Amino acid sequence: MSEILITGGSLIDGTGAAPRAADVLLRDDSIVAVGPHGTVVAAADALRINATGKTVMPGLIDAHLHSTFDDVQSNDELFFHREAAMSALTTSQNLQKILRAGVTSFMDPDTAWGIGPSVRDAIDCGVIDGPRMKTGYQALLTAVGGTAGRLIPDEGRTGYAQVVNNTDEIVMWTRRHIKYGADWIKIHATGSVPTRKGELLVWTEDEMKASCDTAHDLGIPVTAHCRSDESTAAAVRAGVDLILHASYITEDTVQLLVDSGTPVCPTFTFLANLADYGPKVGAGIGQEDLFRGEIRATAKMMRAAYDAGVPILCGSESGFALTPYGHWHGREMEVFVNELGLTPLEAITCGTKNGALAMRMDDVGVIDVGYRADVLVVDGDPSKDIRLLNDKSRFAHIISKGKPVDTTRPWPSHTKIPGSKVANWSSEPLTFERAMTPD
Ligand SMILES: [Zn+2]
Repeated sequence: MSEILITGGSLIDGTGAAPRAADVLLRDDSIVAVGPHGTVVAAADALRINATGKTVMPGLIDAHLHSTFDDVQSNDELFFHREAAMSALTTSQNLQKILRAGVTSFMDPDTAWGIGPSVRDAIDCGVIDGPRMKTGYQALLTAVGGTAGRLIPDEGRTGYAQVVNNTDEIVMWTRRHIKYGADWIKIHATGSVPTRKGELLVWTEDEMKASCDTAHDLGIPVTAHCRSDESTAAAVRAGVDLILHASYITEDTVQLLVDSGTPVCPTFTFLANLADYGPKVGAGIGQEDLFRGEIRATAKMMRAAYDAGVPILCGSESGFALTPYGHWHGREMEVFVNELGLTPLEAITCGTKNGALAMRMDDVGVIDVGYRADVLVVDGDPSKDIRLLNDKSRFAHIISKGKPVDTTRPWPSHTKIPGSKVANWSSEPLTFERAMTPD
């Protein structure tokens, strides 16, 4: 038995309640007491943390990240330049970064070569350290493809994608993913076609329903990538249990979400990073307004959905070069404050308590007796400045499953892995004229 007593802090419990002075006692992986300062008694050998002047709050729950992508720079790399075994090894390192950004639970909807269930089991069995993980296997894509368009093969699988060509294959692969250990089935409801604008709905509603019915019969929920209003509405009607993105939703679709109670993880962080910082790293140059526009266009209706009681979750889409592990897990809450007009406390509830819906757990995301022992001690008051939660230097203590995370070790990193990066021959064609032009 090991106990940790956190005293003197200001408690944000994750429910949306105002901060209050409270001490918190953890025993192994449980919160066993919460009470006014000085009233909670711990064992003599308990680890004692003085949180005076600091905030005590639940560990963050990132409801949408890709733990196996290793900060990938292109679809080409993601689908054709990664091996399953190396992906598993890099994931074990990247999990440390996720933990050290205060994320104590996450949901990963689709994983390179379906390694997610193995990674989750390795965490649960103590083979590697990591936050609590719920995982999909691969994403189900129709032959039209997903966000990688024509890179996706006509059949079979590559990277995180499993192509399904008809309802029989949808049912078969849904069942197989469950057999392989998926906590969630992931449907890529929209995809891009080079000659068309935006992402198109590339599943019929009946096809989505076939996956949902099959999964639900086996007690497994379904999540769907929906980058349009039409796809979001179709997914909700088909029985999808968690919508990712829900871009450009309209009033009618908000009503569908309200009636069904389906939670939404808008995952603005990737777009926000592109819009605000992309040009710093040579990404999305000249397209900043497009990305900001998608956030703005979606934010108003997302706020309407929030006001009508639709649970809104925080996802960072970490795993890409624009959202590297350990750097942006708190950003979504800042976007919710700035673009949805939520208070910091409301945004924190989205990033903690609401995330439990993605974990399909009822004992994470809140600080109260009976909940799991995932706790942050933050230097400062995030109910006044939400940006603190995206600043790792502010996490005085991170406690995951009742154990302090060692944040003193050097930040995990690795050098370039042979064969894992796509090299560019050049950034422009070497014409004769270009060659003859003095620089
Ligand atoms: Zn994603």
